[in-house]
Amino acid sequence: MRYGYCYHSGVTDSPDSSSARKLQTIFLDRDGVLNRKMPEGRYVTSQGDFHVLPGVLETIARLNRAGIRVIVVSNQRGIALGLYSGANVDSIHAGFQNMLKAHGAHVDAFYYCPHDKGQCDCRKPLTGMFDQARRDFPEISAATSAMIGDSLSDIEFGRRLGMLAVFIEGDPERQKPGALSAAGLADLRFPSLAEAVDSLLRLRTAPQL
Ligand SMILES: [Mg+2]
Ligand SMILES: [Zn+2]
Repeated sequence: MRYGYCYHSGVTDSPDSSSARKLQTIFLDRDGVLNRKMPEGRYVTSQGDFHVLPGVLETIARLNRAGIRVIVVSNQRGIALGLYSGANVDSIHAGFQNMLKAHGAHVDAFYYCPHDKGQCDCRKPLTGMFDQARRDFPEISAATSAMIGDSLSDIEFGRRLGMLAVFIEGDPERQKPGALSAAGLADLRFPSLAEAVDSLLRLRTAPQL
């Protein structure tokens, strides 16, 4: 049985707060969560297209200080479409890591799926990137992880693995079809990563009843 989000979850011990209490790893989608999503059908092809959303650098610093592992998992089908290369993605991620460094923060690992639809096991909602992360960090378990994303594929990825699934409401003009189902399917919903993490960290330390 699942419960809706309760703003008094410090008081009622919901399944969400018991999942949050065990939280050790957060999987983050990239576009629309960390950086401003491009209009539908357009892609982030270079660092010039990568605009970090407000509060993101500070929020990742908070997760680092709380001892929570931060892993980015991103579908980058634009590589399969020939719009940019894996090297472009790597340099975007290196640039982001540098911005984080200036805030005393870091992402523990980045994974991305460079494939087109239906060609692999790593394009979300398929769970191959979770397996990749587990190869690099064997102590990761789905039961102590959460997935935070702005697309149905992110929420389904989290759900298939049995993680806490958290939906970020994107810019309404740039939201993909399926965002409404994603919001419905998620355990928790927030307007931004900063607010999601704020709540997860509060649930994590809330007194157990
Ligand atoms: Mg996204
Ligand atoms: Zn793939």
